[in-house]
Amino acid sequence: MPLPQSLLTGLLDIIFPRNCILCRGYHPLTAHDPLCPDCYKKLPWNKTPLSLRSTPSIHFDRSLAILHYKGHAQTLLKQFKFHNKTSIRRTISRLFRDFIKLHSLDIGTHALIIPMPLHPTRLRERGYNQSTLIAQGIADTLNMPLCEDILERHRATAHQSQLHAKDRWTNVGHAFRILPLADIVGREILLIDDILTTGATASEAAKTLKEAGASRVTVITLAITACGSCTTTS
Ligand SMILES: [Zn+2]
Repeated sequence: MPLPQSLLTGLLDIIFPRNCILCRGYHPLTAHDPLCPDCYKKLPWNKTPLSLRSTPSIHFDRSLAILHYKGHAQTLLKQFKFHNKTSIRRTISRLFRDFIKLHSLDIGTHALIIPMPLHPTRLRERGYNQSTLIAQGIADTLNMPLCEDILERHRATAHQSQLHAKDRWTNVGHAFRILPLADIVGREILLIDDILTTGATASEAAKTLKEAGASRVTVITLAITACGSCTTTS
């Protein structure tokens, strides 16, 4: 006779105890993401999540950021990006779901969800694209497909985090291109990245998408830095 599910997960909790990814407190296996409820509540939510294009040099139409890049959000993103904690994807799905509910956000159901691509060299170094994992969490939440065969980063660029704000714009110039056979004419794009700082990378990618015929580009990021300073991890 098979063991009841509750007994099975209870046993697994004893054999493989889990801890919250931030506070290291005990966190049961039955939880759906690696963040405990207390740490989840302490995340610095962005109370004014929607920004519209403010200057002609920005090529995306609007941007949505779920969290401010500070405190628990900063730790979470660093764990996700540099310490291979890819299970955070489940936290991100939950964050995004709560975020669109809280703000009654209008997300087009026919939009294409595109992760910010990494250059193949950077992808090999890291082993995964953090933006793809975030985008997958968002696609799961919206029950929409993830499109990884539209945009590529064909030029290797320096780490944005190592550059002054003004140099970031030239660093990413012409870094992207549309893949053959991709047809985005008249389509709305949800471009997903981990963090928005100066907006230079997102703007350059949006420019490439707009030149290929995209009707609107919305940039969605997990976090946004406070003042466009160079504290980003991207
Ligand atoms: Zn915790």
